[in-house]
Amino acid sequence: MRRTKLYMDTVVDIQVIPGNSEQEAEARIRRAFDAFRKVEDTCSRFSPDSELMAACRQIMTPVPVSPLLFELLCFALQFAEWTGGIFDPAVGKVMEEYGFNRHYLTGQSIQSPAADHTSYRDILLNEQDRTVYLCKPLVIDLGAIAKGFAIDLAAKELEPFDGFIVNAGGDLYAGGHNDRGEPWEIGIQHPTEPERILYKLSLSNEAVCTSGSYERKSATNPEIHHLIHPTSKYSPNTWVSCSVVAPFAMLADAASTASFVYGPEAQTFIENMELKGVLVTPDLQIVTVGGI
Ligand code: ADP
Ligand code: MG
Repeated sequence: MRRTKLYMDTVVDIQVIPGNSEQEAEARIRRAFDAFRKVEDTCSRFSPDSELMAACRQIMTPVPVSPLLFELLCFALQFAEWTGGIFDPAVGKVMEEYGFNRHYLTGQSIQSPAADHTSYRDILLNEQDRTVYLCKPLVIDLGAIAKGFAIDLAAKELEPFDGFIVNAGGDLYAGGHNDRGEPWEIGIQHPTEPERILYKLSLSNEAVCTSGSYERKSATNPEIHHLIHPTSKYSPNTWVSCSVVAPFAMLADAASTASFVYGPEAQTFIENMELKGVLVTPDLQIVTVGGI
């Protein structure tokens, strides 16, 4: 059984081996899509009324947030620590300034107040009270992990089935096995020819996420795409695409974004994280990492 919907400016495709209960499969797929809606509503940077953007408007005061948003913020800050700020959820204002500020459904653009020099260190969390505290005006951007998080929540709904895939525009979790009882065969898309497969992976109970420079370009600066080095504010170009395989999609999502921004240090980073990766250079050389 296969169903498709649009969330987060991405086609989400869910495939399930339903066993003997088609009805249950339908109901669970519906709940899986609901997870995407919930994550998007909570943390869209493009909707002024998302919980995330409402929280960003309150400076120097602890703001109570939902468990869902808190979970994303915790992971984002943890990952920022692990990468020494290469991964930085405070890049939102830079993204806005490069023209990544338009809602894909309404076309409305957003302009948020922000201080000049901001980083993840200006975002403080209090686990006891489940609050977020911004030391300066800034825009929190969870775009590098929200899709992965939604994929994981959707996958949880589909766990009872022998096999399923939650695929959000190439970022995906492959659960169990296919209808022949084998691991899922997943193709990584060719960076310049979307119809072609560049590399094939065999996955079972694993996620793979890809960050590519070809995906979204800045409208204000042709040298900028949607992956930004937080201190230089430039887009790295060591790779055209970085795919990371991880046990859950939020980790694969964060790690693929970070690998891209790490540039020449991507391999070392992926190895240190004990993950696997497929990196592609601008002249389409494929570099595999972690024993793929
Ligand atoms: P996609 O959303 O196309 O799947 P990614 O998962 O790689 O791609 O996420 C890209 C998003 O990550 C950008 O749109 C932006 O919101 C955010 N981002 C860009 N640079 C960084 C960075 N250095 N650290 C954290 N997030 C970033
Ligand atoms: Mg990512």
